[in-house]
Amino acid sequence: MSLIIDCHGHYTTAPKALEAWRNQQIAGIKDPAAMPRAADLKISDDELRESIETNQLRLMKERGSDITLFSPRASFMAHHIGDFNVSSTWAAICNELCYRVSTLFPDNFVPVAMLPQSPGVDPKTCIPELEKCVKEYGAVGINLNPDPSGGHWTSPPLTDRHWYPIYEKMAEYDLPAMIHVSTSCNACFHTTGAHYLNADTTAFMQLIQGDLFKDFPTLKFLIPHGGGAVPYHWGRFRGLAQEMKKPLLDTHVMNNVFFDTCVYHQPGIDLLNTVIPVKNVLFASEMIGAVRGIDPTTGNYYDDTKRYIEASKILSAEDKHQIYEGNVRRVFPRLDARLKARNK
Ligand SMILES: [Zn+2]
Repeated sequence: MSLIIDCHGHYTTAPKALEAWRNQQIAGIKDPAAMPRAADLKISDDELRESIETNQLRLMKERGSDITLFSPRASFMAHHIGDFNVSSTWAAICNELCYRVSTLFPDNFVPVAMLPQSPGVDPKTCIPELEKCVKEYGAVGINLNPDPSGGHWTSPPLTDRHWYPIYEKMAEYDLPAMIHVSTSCNACFHTTGAHYLNADTTAFMQLIQGDLFKDFPTLKFLIPHGGGAVPYHWGRFRGLAQEMKKPLLDTHVMNNVFFDTCVYHQPGIDLLNTVIPVKNVLFASEMIGAVRGIDPTTGNYYDDTKRYIEASKILSAEDKHQIYEGNVRRVFPRLDARLKARNK
């Protein structure tokens, strides 16, 4: 029996007081007198418990998953809003809530941290929050936003030295990063329908163009949402890499880049598992997230991705074990250590 580990979950169901506090914070950017203090936000353990028990934990039990790697709501990161101080206070609040959930439900939730990124600000300013989340909260990974501007792409590519302070810490702590954008403030890009998938695809192409893993051979990136357009256009990416005189993708990027299974239909999951090696695929659902409805053609929730893995005719039982547990523990060594310590 495998542990079913969902490596991509966000706290999308946090008590409403969180959103109200954030709205006040945003109002405080223009009117400093209205700026709330972090201590003004009060959410009890009972409220946290209820928000999880009636939502994520209920669905995990119904669908049969055991552990969710749990990070702050991605669309709420909104790094484009305000300056570094605004992002810093907001990230600290959101990370603390995910940590508290992980202490209330230690068997089911493990924290992943968001970073206090801000457009035009040196990423090294994120290090204190990152260190706190690893050392004090037990975070096993981070979410790294390749576009803190929210759809205007004003930061250098992920292979640029601009990002190296984060990568140095990731290497030091054996911490993988999910490449995850936030809300789009560019009307051309719908947040979850376009911006997320664009970013997944864009990040992968940046990694092909650069040679980042020569500098950081142990770095691990998880590209969510099934890798955006990457699996579908695998031939294009291989061909482009060849024309750029890059090594084969197997060695150039595929020891360091992984894809999750947040693909919401059977043919999509089947394509992912036909194209991408099993060792590079990690189970995830991103529930309760972007797509919350029921597919009328199947009668099941679109984001009940375990069903697609179970129904796969491409994957063997051992492949499924790797996707549910083995690969996740390999890519998230701190999770693996935590699970081993639990079983002692
Ligand atoms: Zn997400």
